[in-house]
Amino acid sequence: MRYSHLFGPVLSRRLGRSLGVDLVPFKVCSFDCVYCECGDTTKVVLEREEFFPVEEVLDELEDYLSRSPVLDYITFSGSGEPTLSLSIGMCIRYLKERLPSYRVAVLTNGTLLWKEDVRRDLLEADIVLPTLSSAIEETYRRIHRPAPGLPVELIIAGIEQFRKDYTGEIWLEIFIIPGINTTKTELEALRKAIRQIHPDRVQLNTLDRPGTESWVRPASPGELRKVRDMLGLAGVESVEPVIPGSFRCIPVPEWTDSVMMVHDLLQKRPSTLEDIIDVTGLNRREVLKILRVIGARFPVTEKKEERGIFYSCPP
Ligand code: SF4
Repeated sequence: MRYSHLFGPVLSRRLGRSLGVDLVPFKVCSFDCVYCECGDTTKVVLEREEFFPVEEVLDELEDYLSRSPVLDYITFSGSGEPTLSLSIGMCIRYLKERLPSYRVAVLTNGTLLWKEDVRRDLLEADIVLPTLSSAIEETYRRIHRPAPGLPVELIIAGIEQFRKDYTGEIWLEIFIIPGINTTKTELEALRKAIRQIHPDRVQLNTLDRPGTESWVRPASPGELRKVRDMLGLAGVESVEPVIPGSFRCIPVPEWTDSVMMVHDLLQKRPSTLEDIIDVTGLNRREVLKILRVIGARFPVTEKKEERGIFYSCPP
C-alpha cells in the first residue's frame, strides 16, 4: 500500500520514535508562523473540514500498524494544523479502541481549542502539545500571522478550558525567537498565562531548520537557559537537538525507493525542494515527507541561498 497520510517514523525531538499522521493538505493552517519549516501557509483558515475521506487514513493506519512496529507515539502533525481536520476525533478513537497499546499525541498550534467540538475530539489522546509563544497581542501577531478573528486571549482561554476537560498530559510549547518574545514584559505575560493553563510541562523550543522568514534565528542554549530562569517556574525545559544517526527508523516500505532516490540525489547535488520535485516527478507533499524521513536517518545539511533552501547529504 502506498501511504499518503502517514510519514516516518521520524525521530522527534520531543516525542522520540514518532509515526506522523497528516490529515490536512499542504499547507492549510490557521497560522502562518515566521518560523514554520514548511514555508508560507497557502491557505490561512479557521473552518474545519474533512479534507480526505477518513476511511483512507484508517486503512493506512490499519495496514501500517498490522506489522506491530515499535513506536513511542503516533502523532497527528504534518504540514498544517491537524485540528482543522474533522477526521481527527474519529482517528484518535479508532486508535484507542483498536490499538490501545500505542500512545497518541497531537501537535497543535492550539488555535481551535476554544471550540467545543475540537476539545471533544482530542479527549482520548495521551498527550496534547499546544503552542503559545506570546501572550501579548502585538507580538503574537508578529510571530504567528494568524487567521482573522483569532485574538491571543481566545487561544489562552481555549487551552485553559481544555485543561479543565482533559485528563491526559498537556505539554505547552513556547517557540523562542531571541529579541522578539524574550523581554521581561513578554516573559511576565507568558508566566501569567502558564499559571492560568496549568500544563504538565512547558517546553522551550527554537529554530532547528530554516524558518519561513530569514530574520528568525535560533536561540542558543544559553539564551534558552536565561528564558527558563526568567520564567522562574517549575516544569520548564528546553527541547534538546536530535543527534544525527542516533536512530534507525523503520521506513514506510513502499516509500523506500523514493527515499533512496532523493537521498542519492542529495548526495550528488545539493537541491532545493523545487529541484527535487523536478528531478523525481514527486509532488511537494511527498517530497516534504521524504525529507523528514531522510532527516531522521542521515545527516542532512540545509543552506539558505537566494533561490531557496538547498538540501544535501554528505556522501
Ligand atoms: S502552526 Fe505549525 S504548521 Fe502552522 S504555520 Fe505555524 S509552524 Fe507551520
